[in-house]
Order: sequence, then C-alpha cells, then structure tokens
Amino acid sequence: MIIEKKVHTCRKCHSKVLTKNNINVCGNLQYHCKTCGAYGVLEPREPYTEKEQELIIKAY
Ligand SMILES: [Zn+2]
Repeated sequence: MIIEKKVHTCRKCHSKVLTKNNINVCGNLQYHCKTCGAYGVLEPREPYTEKEQELIIKAY
C-alpha cells in the first residue's frame, strides 16, 4: 500500500511555505516560495511510467 502525501515543498530550500502562482505555458502550476523567493513548477511531470509502477509493485 502506497500512501501518497501531497505536500509540496520548495525544490531549493524545501520550505512548505509556498504560494500557488500561475499556470505557465506548458500548463504546469507554478509556485512561489515565500522563504527563498524561488519560482518553480509545482507538480512537474514525474517520469513514473507504467513500467516503473510495475517495479514498485513487484518490490512488495
Ligand atoms: Zn524556497
């Protein structure tokens, strides 16, 4: 059983104090970190393919 925690953290300083900003050209939601002031993509497309998910399931 995989428990998915959807807590977004800053990629630079790992702060959780983020402001959801705008949607960029690619359609990804962007954040603005209040701690370090960085901008980034909130949910980048993780390369979790079906094959990788199979491997995760097999690992159990
Ligand atoms: Zn930050």
